[in-house]
Amino acid sequence: MDNVNATNRHRVMILGTGPAGLTAAIYAARANLHPYVVEGNEPGGQLMLTTEVENFPGFPDAIMGPQLMDNMRKQAERFGAQFARGWVTAVDLSKRPFQVTVNESEQHFADALIISTGASAKMLGIPGESESIGRGVSTCATCDGFFFRGKQVIVVGGGDSAMEEATFLTKFASQVTIVHRRHELRASKVMQERARNNPKIQWVLNATPVSVQSDGNRVTGLEVRDNETGQTRVIPADGVFVAIGHTPNTGFLKGQLELDDLGYIRTIGVTTATSVAGVFACGDVMDPHYRQAITAAGSGCKAAMDVERYLEGQAVHDWSASSAAR
Ligand code: NAP
Repeated sequence: MDNVNATNRHRVMILGTGPAGLTAAIYAARANLHPYVVEGNEPGGQLMLTTEVENFPGFPDAIMGPQLMDNMRKQAERFGAQFARGWVTAVDLSKRPFQVTVNESEQHFADALIISTGASAKMLGIPGESESIGRGVSTCATCDGFFFRGKQVIVVGGGDSAMEEATFLTKFASQVTIVHRRHELRASKVMQERARNNPKIQWVLNATPVSVQSDGNRVTGLEVRDNETGQTRVIPADGVFVAIGHTPNTGFLKGQLELDDLGYIRTIGVTTATSVAGVFACGDVMDPHYRQAITAAGSGCKAAMDVERYLEGQAVHDWSASSAAR
């Protein structure tokens, strides 16, 4: 084992600091495991991009996303979690302790790993979009739909997420327009039908988003180009929901542990165990389905408890009996 010293040898490393990683850090720190937490590319995760969070239990008057993440971090620090800036560029899970490379050159070694690197919402990358995040541009209808009661919104995308978000948004919005770049939808038939049968949903197909329009404070519409005629026009709207998919942040794990077809980490049964004993995963990096701060936090708690059991030599999961065993 090369380059191991007291500062880079850890019992537990936690990779990523969204709600999953920070909750894992609180639990692991309180269990005296002295977790070493690597902040990742987007410290605080996706909630850093939102404004008010109204559905996280315990905050009846809502809390700002960045404030909630700051609170979680302070709570973990209070119990001794150690935070380090940087992102993980490589791991070697074939030997013990596991080797983790941070910022391409810094080596760390850990007996157990919790991977909570999240998933990043894909963005359109058009003018006006990034400036309006939290001011009318959103990537989460469940989180922000409530703010658009009686308003007009646009959902961009033609997959299941777009259909689901649009259908959900009709509970609040007066009108929902789905904008998709092709005539054909990618979404499953059942989700398409549900959206097509909803009288509040309008369709603008074969149209490419060009820019998000705003009055400098709030979104006022989406400029789109008709792919047939080449003509542009602005669809007025108070909100633009971008639902063009997510990318799990697992590039550094390829070939190291089992991922599903979309690149999300496979976990075993109801545990957070992965195909490699001693490596656990929680939050959006293993959950393409729920993607909520509270579900991520819940799975972070599970991951820390699973790690504690693993380090005590207790069974978390019988890897030898698993088809995913290595
Ligand atoms: P997806 O299936 O990859 O669909 C993404 C959509 O966004 C596609 O229609 C794509 O257009 C469009 N798109 C991508 N990049 C774009 C860009 N730069 N500009 C404009 N449009 C763009 O992603 P998803 O809908 O998030 O679904 C991901 C997975 O989760 C799927 O397997 C889905 O079935 C599953 N899912 C299931 C449920 C459910 O069953 N309840 C709900 C949500 C998601 P093109 O079609 O032209 O490529």
